[in-house]
Amino acid sequence: MKKIWNLPNVTFMPFAYIEEPREVLLVTSTPAWNAVKASLCGLNITATIEVTEANTTHWDNLQSSIENRKSEIIYAVGGGLTADAAKFFAAKMNLPLVVLPTALSVDAFITAASGIRRDGCVYYIETKVPERIILDLDTITNAPASIRAAGITDVMSIATGAWDWKFAHEQGRNPAGMEFIPWVYDNAQSILSGVLDCAEAAGRGDKDGLKTLYDCLALEVQLCNQVGHSRPEEGSEHYFAYAVENEMGHGLPHGDLVGPAILLIAKLQGQDTAPLEKALKACNVPLDNIPQDMIDRTLKILPEYCRRHNLAFGIAHTLGN
Ligand SMILES: [Zn+2]
Repeated sequence: MKKIWNLPNVTFMPFAYIEEPREVLLVTSTPAWNAVKASLCGLNITATIEVTEANTTHWDNLQSSIENRKSEIIYAVGGGLTADAAKFFAAKMNLPLVVLPTALSVDAFITAASGIRRDGCVYYIETKVPERIILDLDTITNAPASIRAAGITDVMSIATGAWDWKFAHEQGRNPAGMEFIPWVYDNAQSILSGVLDCAEAAGRGDKDGLKTLYDCLALEVQLCNQVGHSRPEEGSEHYFAYAVENEMGHGLPHGDLVGPAILLIAKLQGQDTAPLEKALKACNVPLDNIPQDMIDRTLKILPEYCRRHNLAFGIAHTLGN
């Protein structure tokens, strides 16, 4: 059965105004919860899950630990890992889901899939789209600068991901179902240009800038929903991020991996990296958290890594040739 997913409804409001009388299963992480719990007295929390890893065994264990508690709705409070786990629980338990992002750090808040680590790579399993996302722009403005607007990396990956998609087309390497569609490519470029324009404002925590960053994330996700795959925004930059994370061990936020990867891959693609670097810096995305020896090692193993994990063809497959 083929289906086209939707985006969540969005409400802009302070978290302190939330009144939820239904029994809430809270899915969160300690730092995120500590940052906003004072504003969330309106949640009727009857069970809590703290997520630390992105794999289904961990998530299944967490779910069994609250099996005898009653909940009518799930609230996810935090970043991408929290949202991915909450989407998994909501799909399995057949419960509605509300997501409260504490930073605009990734696009996972609004996608229909959850990223899991398996065999040294990241795979996406279909879960569900949250029914609702509540954006408290004051909370996001006050998030740590390095994650506040780091979700720009999941829109800026259009620069390298869409390049790969077109490259694969020119090489006759796009599989059935991922055929290159020029107008979709053009739409992706337009979203990319929107996000580069709002980078400075979003990065300094300006509310209109953050709203525009959200708009760009939403359009990027829905464009991928329409075509049924992520090639307009996912390519060698994400492959590099997955591979280097596997080399280094988990720990760095998604933006810390994808941000530098966009610059590395764009350079290999022969693109002008100056506007990309400017936008990443404006959004305070850390660009030097991956040690140089890790970068060198990962670039060496990347073509084989991409083939082993059956990743859609991009420039990463051709490195070293
Ligand atoms: Zn991503």
